[in-house]
Amino acid sequence: MHLPVLYMTVTFSGKLLIRPLKNLSQTNIMISGQNKTKLKKAATPKGGLYMEPKLGNPQNTIAVIQKYNFVFQKKYGQNFLIDTHVLDKIITAAGITNNDMVLEIGPGIGTMTQYLASAARKVIAVEIDDHLIPILEDTLSEYDNVTILHDDILKVNITHLASQYNGGRPVKVVANLPYYITTPIIMGLFEKDVPVDNITVMVQKEVADRMQVGPGSKDYGALSLAVQYYAEPYLVANVPPNCFLPRPKVGSAVIRLKRYSSPPVSVRDPALMFRLIRASFNQRRKTLQNGLSNSPELSLSKEQIAQAILTLGMPASVRGETLTLEQFARLADYFFEHTHQKGNPLC
Ligand code: SAM
Repeated sequence: MHLPVLYMTVTFSGKLLIRPLKNLSQTNIMISGQNKTKLKKAATPKGGLYMEPKLGNPQNTIAVIQKYNFVFQKKYGQNFLIDTHVLDKIITAAGITNNDMVLEIGPGIGTMTQYLASAARKVIAVEIDDHLIPILEDTLSEYDNVTILHDDILKVNITHLASQYNGGRPVKVVANLPYYITTPIIMGLFEKDVPVDNITVMVQKEVADRMQVGPGSKDYGALSLAVQYYAEPYLVANVPPNCFLPRPKVGSAVIRLKRYSSPPVSVRDPALMFRLIRASFNQRRKTLQNGLSNSPELSLSKEQIAQAILTLGMPASVRGETLTLEQFARLADYFFEHTHQKGNPLC
């Protein structure tokens, strides 16, 4: 495959770590769906030492891509990381120790996986693209603590993985996420009560902004509130397009979401609160009252809504985008108490 010279000019640190040889005998390659476990012999390390991670700079990434004639698939959001500084930052921010199980979503050619495998006790890497599986078998052949699952992450039972590989304890999730499924992946991890300690992910800069902001910002929305209900967001780094191959059109950012042991606000029915939040932001230009009464997810009369807004001390003309998480929680509790008790469930 011909790669433009442009990619060869990307700056990189070219750092190679030399560490003592681990007990490298087998790489556990599990092809999910076919229920097949293939055990593969590891490459022979030289002189009792092996170098890790080997990927992470442009030359090595290009060499792997050329070796396998790999063609990037836009539909899977394939932009591979080629900056060792960024990779180091991700590993540090995720706080990975040799006691951790890490779930990596979308390992690509295994660049970040090599870094994760060097730091963690166990890495499960879930990759959807058939063409990447033989590449991963090659690039991860020296790591005996990596299991590759060939599957769509949205179909994987992560709770089951945590119990199988981590005794049910919370796992750390690390990923350079494909844009098209960023929100479903993150919300799925939070809403399905998957045992997760933290999620450290590369996302589009604009998505990272949306996760961190509060009322008053144009980026404030349902994603901000959902993320902030479940986790404490922390911006690890802004990452420019030249850290990827191929270069994306927009900037990216690494964000860490540390899951709260209990949410920062109490609410009697979180699902109801999220229905109210979605209804408020689906019609941004409308008042809170109109947004809620037009929502197909809610069956509240205009009078009920007006009464709730009044009782909570907000002006009738208030817009949903000005409400804090705490205010949405109080609104949800109001409807929970005043409509459920009268035998009038909201949906
Ligand atoms: N982690 C690699 C890196 O940083 O170089 C690759 C990141 S690339 C942005 C996203 C990866 O996610 C690709 O390898 C892509 O094939 C994979 N992917 C996309 N959709 C997926 C899905 N639904 N389930 C699992 N992997 C997926």
